[in-house]
Amino acid sequence: VVDPSQLGDILARIHRDLAPLTAKGKPATYIPELAKVDPSRFGIAVALIDGTVHTVGDAAEPFSIQSISKIFGLTLALGRVGEGLWARVGREPSGSRFNSIVQLEQEHGRPRNPFINAGAIVVTDVIAEGHEPRETLGELVTFVRFLSGAADIVIDSAVAASEKSTGHANFALAHFLKAHGNLTGAPERVLGVYFHQCALAMSCAQLARAGLFLASAGRNPVTRYTIVSPLRARRINALMMSCGLYDASGDFAFRVGLPAKSGVGGGILAIVPGVGTIAVWSPGLDATGSSLVGTLALEQLAAAMNWSVFSG
Ligand code: GLU
Repeated sequence: VVDPSQLGDILARIHRDLAPLTAKGKPATYIPELAKVDPSRFGIAVALIDGTVHTVGDAAEPFSIQSISKIFGLTLALGRVGEGLWARVGREPSGSRFNSIVQLEQEHGRPRNPFINAGAIVVTDVIAEGHEPRETLGELVTFVRFLSGAADIVIDSAVAASEKSTGHANFALAHFLKAHGNLTGAPERVLGVYFHQCALAMSCAQLARAGLFLASAGRNPVTRYTIVSPLRARRINALMMSCGLYDASGDFAFRVGLPAKSGVGGGILAIVPGVGTIAVWSPGLDATGSSLVGTLALEQLAAAMNWSVFSG
């Protein structure tokens, strides 16, 4: 393992080498508000379990975390209903696009996994059940603030409204789930919570800190609060490895070798079990909907630090 004291130099080199490539990816446009973000933004934060955070570039600037929020929603839903969640959502990679509806029909309304949109909508339904939407959102915001130690994290309501205005594919998924009896709440209400959850705005540094419990057997190594059991942390990491990058999860495991979750805002949170976390942000996406430069940065950083769950 490479000495962490070299991290600063390695991050600076990766940032310098990859910054010219940020123009190659395409920011998401199906959520109009995301298309307004400057595509040359690029930040990396590494949080180590000793509590240190190493950053380069735009690592302190909040961005729309989008599907990265599905990690936090899943963690809360497992806390709520435990293993019973798996009666409603599967644990297999989908091999389909993040918002695909085809598979959902073939499999009678049980989404393949909690990280594709259909699965995340069911997860949102679980945490929203029996609560007013603003209570559920309050719980989510409180949770990410608690995890990251940042009291100023908020939901960007302009992004949520923007997604609601164009979110027809997600409305289709939610109604389809409802038709199959796999949604308790009204589709509009569950999606209201889902869109706001996706619109959480966090910086790379905040995200890296928030993910530390997954690198440390379920316990936040800085605050020492237990968030989930060691077994549950391991299982969430396993799901991130197999499903976190949608239909590119296999390729990402091959290239990077770390559990991770991407979002269409251009962020990716990766976990290095026992070591720390990496959060990257570059808004330009590849064809599968994950950050192009962010993936390259993770590939180069994991190689330089010899970080992989597959190395002996
Ligand atoms: N809010 C986005 C959607 O539902 C999240 C997708 C993503 O980040 O991959 O389409």
